[in-house]
Amino acid sequence: MNRINHWIDGKVVESTSGNTSPVYDPATGEQTAEVGLASRAEVDAAVAAAKAAFPAWRATSLSRRAEVMFRMRELVDANRKEIASMLTAEHGKVLSDSMGEVARGLENIEYACGIPQLIKGDYSEQAASGVDVYSIRQPLGVVAGITPFNFPAMVPMWMFANALACGNTFVLKPSEKDPSVNMFVAELLAQAGLPAGCFNVVQGDKVAVDRILEHEDITAVSFVGSTPIAKYIYETGTGNGKRVQALGGAKNHMLVLNDADVGMAADAAVGAAYGSAGERCMAISVVLAADGIADELVAEISERIGDIKVGPGNEPGNDMGPLITAESRDRVRGYIDRAPEEGATIVVDGREGVPSDGYFVNPTLLDNVGTGMSCYTDEIFGPVLSVVRVSGYQQGIDVINANPYANGTAIFTRDGGAARQFQFDVQVGMVGVNVPVPVPVSYYSFGGWKASLFGDTHMYGPEGINFYTQGKVVTSRWPDPSTSTVDLGFPETR
Ligand code: NAD
Repeated sequence: MNRINHWIDGKVVESTSGNTSPVYDPATGEQTAEVGLASRAEVDAAVAAAKAAFPAWRATSLSRRAEVMFRMRELVDANRKEIASMLTAEHGKVLSDSMGEVARGLENIEYACGIPQLIKGDYSEQAASGVDVYSIRQPLGVVAGITPFNFPAMVPMWMFANALACGNTFVLKPSEKDPSVNMFVAELLAQAGLPAGCFNVVQGDKVAVDRILEHEDITAVSFVGSTPIAKYIYETGTGNGKRVQALGGAKNHMLVLNDADVGMAADAAVGAAYGSAGERCMAISVVLAADGIADELVAEISERIGDIKVGPGNEPGNDMGPLITAESRDRVRGYIDRAPEEGATIVVDGREGVPSDGYFVNPTLLDNVGTGMSCYTDEIFGPVLSVVRVSGYQQGIDVINANPYANGTAIFTRDGGAARQFQFDVQVGMVGVNVPVPVPVSYYSFGGWKASLFGDTHMYGPEGINFYTQGKVVTSRWPDPSTSTVDLGFPETR
């Protein structure tokens, strides 16, 4: 059985805890590997390596840190296909989608290549007579990342690229469901010239997470995952004095107004709902259809669903792969089972015609969904799109703003005034105007509001640089000895 290990202090380290977790090919249901789950002592070893590496890495010049990022950019670019096939093998998403994940992750490494510019401070000459004031940003020390199964390569890149470029050292705890890819990423970072100990991977479960949250040498924690765990990470990590950003789950709405191009809205809804089998935190899971176009939109979406080819992610031509685990498949099917009992209409039933092996659910479309039904209130995280019919803009915005999640949303309309009003009114962190999956590019920052993010800092981009550094302000004077006097007054600038 293939064994997936830790990466500590620049080399592969076997887990000795005796605890393991199975890794499956979700397209067949076969176990392909087992991952060693870290004990507290194994986490401590990774943190000790990161702590030992910090002083030298922090003192490494900005040019050299940028050079490492440039080399990493080249290595990831050259190994796109290899990384993508690792993602498909353990996550199940189709190869083209895995390639997209690598491309969006790579953007964050490219952003970090600009670290000399990004980390610049301000300088004020002559803030008082003979006194200059300037600000600098310094790294935090050892920082940790805890990441979800659904973007096993991209989400770690959201974190470690900026964290390392800022001069921190990093301990990553990836999802135990698809852990292989980060061992390869660790090798690439070493090839790029990153010194041993700067980037460490500890495979693990709650035991490893809890040790990270309490470890006194870890200064900050970035988390991406489900809302209950995000809340736990935030409360425990901040309770232990750490800086924490914890991104949670989502229920993303797409409001389609009567004046929208219905064909374009249907294309967008299908791509955004069923891409990656709906296992995206920015997936559209609810279409709010204005009454005037609702029938036509439902018909156009269901027509397009018929063209989606479902099957193993590594077979060319497939559009959608399986879900991550059997448990996940059964949970998603449960929502479809309950939908008619709760009053929804199943327009396309994804329980039918699924491949016999693996963890597949076919694209599913539910109509006449009400906001009290479980398929609306819960994050399903599968290929199930719910249509809630609304009278128009105002009811649509009211539904979105009443939802506890607030990660992404989109409006489809030809009316610029309505789109602008939507952007003004909507209480959601990332907004699309005729764009269904508005994941910000790497030079903006990613984050939701309300139950989709705990903490005040969004991830990557400028907010990422802020998160991974602390500010220091220096007030400096080179006095002329001939004018020096004793002055007990409070310093004034005028
Ligand atoms: P998850 O919360 O189950 O797991 C995330 C991480 O937390 C994993 O590393 C896991 O090992 C760890 N973990 C799980 N249970 C834990 C516990 N009880 N105590 C401590 N640690 C624990 O999430 P997942 O199923 O891997 O990923 C899917 C979820 O992530 C969805 O809710 C999705 O919306 C969310 N997500 C959010 C974003 C975002 O940017 N907001 C991005 C991607 C995924």
